[in-house]
Formats: sequence, structure tokens, C-alpha cells
Amino acid sequence: MCESSLRKRVRQSLVKPIVQGIGSLLIVILLHGCEASFYKSLRGDTMGTYYRVIGQCRDSLTYQLLESELLSLTSVLSNYDVESEISVFNLSENIGEWVPVPETLVHVLAKAQTISEQTNGAFDVTVAPLVELWGFGVKEVSQPPSAESIARELRRVNYRLLELNESDNTLRKLSNIKLDLSGIGKGYGVDHIAEVLADQRCSDFLIDIGGEIRVRGHNALSHSWRIGFEVPDGTGQSEVFLRLSSGALATSGSYRNYRVFNEKSYTHVIDPRSGYPTSHNLTAVTVYRSTATEADALATALFVMGFDDALEFAESHDIAVALTTWDADSEKHNASYSTAMRALIKEGN
Ligand code: FAD
Repeated sequence: MCESSLRKRVRQSLVKPIVQGIGSLLIVILLHGCEASFYKSLRGDTMGTYYRVIGQCRDSLTYQLLESELLSLTSVLSNYDVESEISVFNLSENIGEWVPVPETLVHVLAKAQTISEQTNGAFDVTVAPLVELWGFGVKEVSQPPSAESIARELRRVNYRLLELNESDNTLRKLSNIKLDLSGIGKGYGVDHIAEVLADQRCSDFLIDIGGEIRVRGHNALSHSWRIGFEVPDGTGQSEVFLRLSSGALATSGSYRNYRVFNEKSYTHVIDPRSGYPTSHNLTAVTVYRSTATEADALATALFVMGFDDALEFAESHDIAVALTTWDADSEKHNASYSTAMRALIKEGN
């Protein structure tokens, strides 16, 4: 009886998703009712957005555990906390000197630097001065920045101006750089919680922080987790689904976080090479990788690249990617998929 009622609810959910990620282009099809008896579901706020964790665990999975883990992570990684380790590093004027920082910070920065190298600087955590200049940091601005101020700030934006020493957990600035972890931090948080859940002997789980998602195992129906791509038109509709029992999905897009100056809109994803917000017909990029950290950073990098370069990058690196573009003539969003993503979709539909 429990099984049949679950199946009915799943069918209903295909017409109208039960839970939709806020600020996300991914729709997770969840089950209600019986699910609660097998799977614990917890949600709250973190990193300026929501988190939710659904897991089947042998040890106890508590709200307190998740909250304390997320709190200790944001106390290191958050640009929105003036006392966080990253904020202290940003304010420091010790240029050329190695400074000790928590292992977590070195760890996330090492991942960030790898993606920067791979993407030829399209992803770059030293983008912070430009993020602030365009009003996407902690402070808002009322005017677009001048060409002079962009050129000035560009001089201190380059991931090669940051050096890491993973053997003794130290960092050094080669110039007056500032770091912004918003393009990778949520993904890193998801992977961190995945480790916490593994410690709690959770065999099956879904973790979602603001639309960056990682799964393992099965849902309450013993099926792989079902995740759909939302068309970014505000309808919450999805016709394309993935069935995943491992891995992570992350999305970057221009459709929800933007500023309008003089009737022109500017997205929060900035090309660190030009100093300007990306400006092309890509509206969203979703990347599937084994970890959410990598998926998160790659989604930002591919968004910077634009449609042609992003698709070429995905094909040459065999990465599963979904790209949504806006066609001004037909006034429609069009979805395109890399070969690896088409294969994943085929399995899921
Ligand atoms: P993504 O595409 O994943 O990232 C885009 C963001 O990365 C931009 O907004 C910019 O900050 C940065 N970026 C832009 N261009 C590049 C580039 N080329 N390379 C690298 N990075 C780039 N927001 C709040 O409003 N309040 C909070 O208290 C708050 N706390 C946070 C704490 C933490 C630890 C983190 C990681 C983020 C926090 N945020 C907070 C930020 C908020 O979650 C961001 O909006 C979010 O991280 C951006 O994610 P996204 O998926 O929208 O975009």
C-alpha cells in the first residue's frame, strides 16, 4: 500500500514538481509520506541560500550536526562574514609573505586553482575586486564602473598572483589580491556534507545547497534520484530528466542574479580577463561531475566562455553539460547538450 501510494505521488510529481530548488535550474523529484519513515529530511539556511539533505543513515543524522558543520565551513569561506578566514586574508597587506590558514581554505583554493588552469583563467577566485566594482559583492552600487576603474582593478585579478603551499597550509599574495569563493563555495559545502554523511554511514542521500546537488544511492522507492532541468522561464517546467545514483550537478546562470544600469542588465558572472560581466546569449550552464566542487566551478567557467567555447570544452574533456541559450528572434530558450550529457539523459528518460 505504501509502495503504490508512493508511485502515485511520483506520477503526480512529474506533472507538477513537489519540490523545486529556489535559485536553481534543477528540479528534484521527491517523494512525500512514506519517504519520511525511511529517509530523514532536513533543511535550513546557509551561504545566503537554503540547504536540504535527505538521507538514509545507520547513525543519527541531526539538524545540529549539519548546522555546526556548515557554520564552521562558512566561518572560513564566507566573503559575507568580516571575521571569516577568507575576509581576514583579503584584508591582509602581507604581500609576498607566506601566511598560515586553515587546511579547508587551502583545500578549496587548490581545487579552484586547478579549474583556473584547466579553463585558462575563465574561472578565477581573484575576481573579487571586479565582483565588488560591479555591485555583486557585499555592497551594492548604483552606477556601472568606469573603464578606468575596471582597468585599474584588472591589474590585481589573476589566479597566478596567489600561491599555495599544501604541505604546510600557507598562502601568499604576489600582489594586492582579494579572493571570492562564491563560484565554488556552495559546491565545496555539498561535498563536505557528503563526507559528513559518509561518516554517519548514510548509504543513500541527496544534498542540495542553493541548487548545487550531490547524490548517492537511491530514493525511498529504491530508484535512482530523479532530477530535471527547468527551462529558465519561471514556469518551473521540465521535460528532461536525469536518473543519478552518484555524482553532482551544478548550475551557473544569468537569469536570477543581475543588475540593471541605464536599462541594460549585467550578470554576476564576470570574465576575469576582460573585467566585464559576461554578455552573450547563454542563460544557464549545468555541469555533471563526480564532485560538486568541480561541477560548481566548471559551471561558472563554462558560463564565462559562452556557448561555442563551452560546448567545445565540454566535448574535448568529455564533460556532461547542458547549455541553455536565449533566442531573441523566437523569444524562446533553447537547450543544447554535450554528447556525455545526452547519454545521461537517455538513461534517465
Ligand atoms: P555561480 O556561477 O556558482 O558563482 C557566481 C559567483 O562567483 C558570482 O556572484 C561572483 O561572486 C563569483 N564570480 C563571478 N565571476 C567569476 C569567475 N569568472 N570566476 C570565479 N568566480 C566568479 N550571499 C548572500 O547574499 N549572503 C550571504 O550571507 C552569503 N554567504 C555566503 C557564504 C559562502 C561560504 C558562500 C560560498 C557564498 C555566500 N553567499 C552569500 C553567496 C551566494 O550564495 C552566491 O550568490 C552564490 O555563491 C553564487 O552562486 P550561483 O550559483 O548563483 O553562481
